[in-house]
Amino acid sequence: MRILLLILCLALSPRIVCAGDVVAALAVDGFDFPVGKPDAEGYYRARGYRPNGHLGEDWNGKSGGNTDLGDPVWAIAHGVVVFAQNFGHGWGNVVIVRHAFEEGGRVKFIDSLYGHLDRILVREGQVLKRGQQLGTIGTGGGLYAAHLHLEIRKDIRVGMAQHRFPHDDTVYLSPVDFINAHRQLKPAVSVAAVPMNTYVAFDSTAEGTPAVKGAAAPKKAVPRR
Ligand SMILES: [Zn+2]
Repeated sequence: MRILLLILCLALSPRIVCAGDVVAALAVDGFDFPVGKPDAEGYYRARGYRPNGHLGEDWNGKSGGNTDLGDPVWAIAHGVVVFAQNFGHGWGNVVIVRHAFEEGGRVKFIDSLYGHLDRILVREGQVLKRGQQLGTIGTGGGLYAAHLHLEIRKDIRVGMAQHRFPHDDTVYLSPVDFINAHRQLKPAVSVAAVPMNTYVAFDSTAEGTPAVKGAAAPKKAVPRR
């Protein structure tokens, strides 16, 4: 019955939120690269993923500089937009998409994060298909030379509260390794129930935590992401 309802929801609207905190999305049939789709044609990884360092990958156009400013950024797989906002704090415009995929006979969820976007073209709750444009490559509001910062998280509680979780492989995946290992999948079911509203609060009492909502941000160097 629940699956039937979810299928009905998906058929009625690509953006409807069904059953409270669950959204029906297509189960992932494979992962692609977020630029130069599907194989990152014309782009290269300027910086790689490093645990306890750079928690994602920076993708740049091969022509260098800001030549990739405004280029399209694509969803790496079917999923649901769980975050789409200008977050500041060195991030600029950020979109996070949640994906449901099968591995080892189980349904797993991961988040893909697209940072420093020039424009956001999707809204929270929107269901996306693999290769659907979600934004454009930006500079994080002038902080960086234009590039896409891509992260993949296997812990779907993190959201923008990176400071509240380990900065290692218990939370993050190497995007290029993960994508290359999951280019084609054959889901047993076509529709998956994707949980929403799983993020912990950004503010906390932890040392070094950025300012709580409504308070002035601490004066410190903007971290490079
Ligand atoms: Zn980066």
